[in-house]
Amino acid sequence: MIFRQLFDPQSSTYTYLLADSATREAVLIDPVFEHVRRDAALIEELGVKLAWTLETHVHADHVTGASLLKRRFGSMIALSRDSGAAGADRLLGDGERVNFGRRSLEVRATPGHTSGCLSYVLDDLSMVFTGDALLIRGCGRTDFQQGDARRLYRSVRDRIFPLPDHCLIYPAHDYRGLTSSSVAEERMYNPRLAESIGEGDFVGYMTHLGLAHPKLMDVAVPANLRCGKPDKEDSGKAADTDWAPLSYTFAGIWELQPEWLAENAGRVQVVDVREAEEFDGALGHIQGARLITLGSLKNNLSEINKEKPVVVVCRSGARSAQATVILRGAGYTKVANLAGGMLRWRGQRLPVEGGTD
Ligand code: FE
Repeated sequence: MIFRQLFDPQSSTYTYLLADSATREAVLIDPVFEHVRRDAALIEELGVKLAWTLETHVHADHVTGASLLKRRFGSMIALSRDSGAAGADRLLGDGERVNFGRRSLEVRATPGHTSGCLSYVLDDLSMVFTGDALLIRGCGRTDFQQGDARRLYRSVRDRIFPLPDHCLIYPAHDYRGLTSSSVAEERMYNPRLAESIGEGDFVGYMTHLGLAHPKLMDVAVPANLRCGKPDKEDSGKAADTDWAPLSYTFAGIWELQPEWLAENAGRVQVVDVREAEEFDGALGHIQGARLITLGSLKNNLSEINKEKPVVVVCRSGARSAQATVILRGAGYTKVANLAGGMLRWRGQRLPVEGGTD
């Protein structure tokens, strides 16, 4: 079997790729929207066929890449029938199997963090993908999204801990960089759920965590309830994106990292959309950048060549994101926003013209 563990540093989410080495059929568990490009590249380089994207639950801290991957590979989307999500190709229930080639994953309902949490157990019982039901020496919170500490306790005790001692646990997150654990280890050392801890202790512990709500919750949950389908349906499609390593944000903006621009400035047109006093101000500007303020952009399109890629820059990356939308609307296909703007550019000590230290 082919197996890869991928990481999103923004939300500390793990994405897992599993493929049958004989038939090359693959599943991807918990893909992240912002990493679809990365995941697609890996899928193509390994020469596997993405059959399914599986969600362990409706996430509150990141948006799923399921919908974009389906668009790209025709993969089917599956998640719990208790998730309340729309747009899935298959709604899974406890005891069902998801096949990929000659291999399969058994679906185990492990509610408690959310009511639609699933764990996926590999056919030979060597691995379980526990989502947020069981984390390494921890577990998912139970204080929102239909969370229920008693249900979570029972899920872990009845559906995960009976797996063989050596069965490896792969969670949806780890905030310390730990990558896996085992059933025996968590039964023994999990500070919330170890065998010695009673249900009442666990419930008491979980009701007094006092955590802040995740920053992305208001965006991520509604987006995940439609399987990560972007609001603006065509914004990612019409773009020509082969000229640079672009990433696509959930806001529908194509972005470029400063390191790439620093090394490839001669291949693109850099358009700076700040005001003139900022262009000549303390942050300075990128060598060769052309100043066209955001307000005057629509009237100065004749200054920008449609054939050559355009990178738009401002102070923080917000106004320039808006500028990419204007340019795209005017028929420019090779357009990207400089991620983080001049602030990040300066933060990375990349060279500028003018400016002060
Ligand atoms: Fe979660």
